[in-house]
Parts: sequence; C-alpha cells; structure tokens
Amino acid sequence: MEQTSVVIIGAGPSGSIAAAILKQHHIDCVVLERSLFPRFSIGESLLPACMESLKKANLFDAVNQAGFQLKNGAAFRYQDQYTHFDFTQKYTAGEGTTFQVPRATFDKLLADEAELQGVEIRYQHTVTHVNVESTKPVISVLDQHEQAYQIQADFILDASGYGRVLPRLLELEQPSNLPPRQALFTHVTDHISPELARELDYDRNKITIYVHPENTSVWYWLIPFSHGVCSVGVVGSPEFFEAYPDDNIEALKQLTQEEPHLKRLFRDADFCHMSGKIGGYSANVKHLAGKNYALLGNAGEFLDPVFSSGVTIAMKSAELATEVLIRQFNGEAVDWNKDYAEPLMVGVDTFRAYVEGWYDGRFQNVVFFEQANPEIKKKISSILAGYAWDKTNPYVASPQKRLSTLAELCL
Ligand code: FAD
Repeated sequence: MEQTSVVIIGAGPSGSIAAAILKQHHIDCVVLERSLFPRFSIGESLLPACMESLKKANLFDAVNQAGFQLKNGAAFRYQDQYTHFDFTQKYTAGEGTTFQVPRATFDKLLADEAELQGVEIRYQHTVTHVNVESTKPVISVLDQHEQAYQIQADFILDASGYGRVLPRLLELEQPSNLPPRQALFTHVTDHISPELARELDYDRNKITIYVHPENTSVWYWLIPFSHGVCSVGVVGSPEFFEAYPDDNIEALKQLTQEEPHLKRLFRDADFCHMSGKIGGYSANVKHLAGKNYALLGNAGEFLDPVFSSGVTIAMKSAELATEVLIRQFNGEAVDWNKDYAEPLMVGVDTFRAYVEGWYDGRFQNVVFFEQANPEIKKKISSILAGYAWDKTNPYVASPQKRLSTLAELCL
C-alpha cells in the first residue's frame, strides 16, 4: 500500500495552506481533491488577517500580484443609514487590506502555487472511506477513472469543506446552535461607472452589507471583483424566501429592487445566468481532532457568512494544525485539544458572539451608532478584519460581555 506522512482531503484554502506549510518543513503530504480546478466556490470576500496566513505559507506574493480587487474595509447600509469600518484603522498589528476574489481563480492560484513549492495534488480523487482505528490511518480513494486505491498515512488533515468527509464518516456531526438560514446568490456585470459610484457614495474597495429595509434579520452582500463583476447574495430564513419566485435570478432581481441604494446602483446591471442557493450551512462537530486526524476550516465548524470569516478561520486552522503536527513529527508530546482546538475556538467564539449579536440586533445597533468612540471602533474594526484571536483586544477576550455592554451604550 502507498505510504505518506500526511493525507490532506481537499485543496480549498485550508488544504493548500496546510500543504504548503508542511512542505516547507519537508513533511511529505498528498492532497486528494474531488474536483478539477478551477471550480466554483462561495466565500469571495477575504479578511486582512488571511494575508498573515498566506505569508506563513509563502503564498502572499502570488496573491498580491494576481490583480484581485483590493478590499480595505466593510460598509453597512440600512435604509438611509450608512457607516463603514476602515480595516487600516484597527487595534491589532498586521495587514490592513486584502482582496475580494472569484474563488475559482483564487483557489486554483493557491493550489498551483503550492504545487510549484513541491506539493502533490491529485485532482478528481475522491476520498470515500477512512480507517482511523489501525495504528496508521488508511484512506480509501476513487480516482478519475473510478479506480479504487488506498493510502496509508501517519496523519489525516480533513480540509474537505462542505464535503465534511471525516465528520460524516466518523459520525462527528453535531447540529449548529445557529438557526438554519439560506443564501441566494449570483454574479452580475454591474456597469457601475465612476460617476454613478460617486453619486451614490459607493466604494468599490469595500464589501457592502445591506440590511433589508423591512426585515432586519435579512441582509445582502455586495462583493465587487476587479473585472466589472460583483457578487451579490441575500441571506434569510428559509421561510423568508417562500414569498419570492422559485427562479433564483428572478428572486434576486426582485430582492435587489427592494433595497433603494442597491436598486439605483444596479440600474444598468446584467444578471448572469450562474446562480446558487445554499442552506443549512452552519455546522458543528463533536471534536476538532481525534486519533491521527484533525479537521480544518469548514470540515470543522462553520458559523455564518455575515462577517466573511469563513476563509480566515479556514486558513487559521491550517496554520494552527500544521504547527502542532510539525511538533508531533519532531517527537514532541502534543495535546490536540489544548494545542489546536482550544486556540482555534478563541477566534471562532469571538465571531460567534458577533454573529449572534448581528441577528438579535445588538451588533446592528453598534454598527449604525453615529457617535462611535474611535478607540472602540478600532477594536471592533480589528475583529471585522479577522484579528479575532488577539486576546489583548478586550472585545476578543470577553466578546459576549463586551458586546452586550457596548450595545446598551449605543441604544
Ligand atoms: P473549501 O473551500 O470548501 O474546500 C474544500 C475542498 O474539498 C473542495 O475543493 C472539495 O471539492 C474538496 N472535497 C470535498 N469532499 C471531498 C472528498 N470526499 N474527497 C476529496 N476532496 C473533497 N467565507 C469568507 O471568507 N468570505 C465570504 O465572503 C464568505 N461568504 C460565504 C457565503 C455563504 C452563503 C456561505 C455559505 C459561506 C461563505 N463563506 C465565506 C465561507 C467559505 O465558503 C468557507 O468558509 C471556505 O470556503 C472554507 O474553506 P475550506 O478550505 O475549509 O473548504
């Protein structure tokens, strides 16, 4: 049977980052990827903290030079209220800008760069079964010709995202405590001229989050790319969408007309034919690591898209897990729960507090508060920029308590 040190399931951002870091440390790994790249993925707005993970994986320069749309902050609109967070004005040190990326291009770029660094990626190889009970785990794979084979590894990193390979196969799934929500999305050729952008005070260097004018638990994302295309999506409860046409594009056209600013911004927009609907995406697991395996990114926990935290958490998980794995391969005693799961959960729980606060209205009050204290705004900006692991930021150290107090002050 074929042998390797680490099998990584999936070549999304968490898989590529993990593979590149292991390669730097001369640890053999094989990445098994079900699809052929480029392939579509949702999750197009990065946070600046991602850039720090990309640096660790030697992928920063390639991403910087790829011509993606710059992103320097997040803007929020609700009826006639407008506010924005500038990520360069933040409390935690680190990159203050990032990019908005069509994920097909971005994920292929990361994977190609990892390959250039010597990583082996096998496309159209689907992991179908794992046995983690033997001394060394055995992974069963179906290749592009439907031929089955097996690899034995010292360790498995599951970076399979929504595929959730190990959670499914090892019965690790646990329901999320967040209520089920749905997202409807497409890409539009926006035809937003510089004049129109000026007239409507629209900043292409930011993601814009719109709160639905009549239903504050429904929100839209507007993520511009560098080639005149925007990604637009709407998130709400499954019941909310029942009042809209079954055809995704028709529903999105109707929904974008309901938001006054978006309606004017999209006056010349061409909706493309690609659209998608995804629901029940919030997921959890019983544990993030077990005997000879760890779960990265969405294969572990996924919260909610509202603060674009998914790729950041995926990259951070790859960084933290490879750190522990390198120590383990160097003969050190490691504790995967203490050394990997607990540190990862610091950031996940920070985002969770702000996601919950968004939907119950507390964080929306904070966001739209007009007399914001600049020092507090910098600390919130840090979290929205993805620096959700910096415990010197009091809004990370005790996110629930701090957010509730702040929300009361903003009433
Ligand atoms: P993925 O990127 O999903 O990669 C997993 C890979 O594993 C895939 O290529 C898949 O083909 C492969 N795979 C799956 N099963 C198998 C198998 N059996 N064998 C081999 N390979 C397999 N995040 C953001 O940061 N910004 C956003 O703006 C954002 N918007 C979002 C909007 C919505 C509506 C949703 C639902 C999510 C959003 N996210 C966003 C989250 C983001 O999509 C994910 O967090 C991110 O893609 C996770 O990366 P990953 O590396 O864990 O997995």
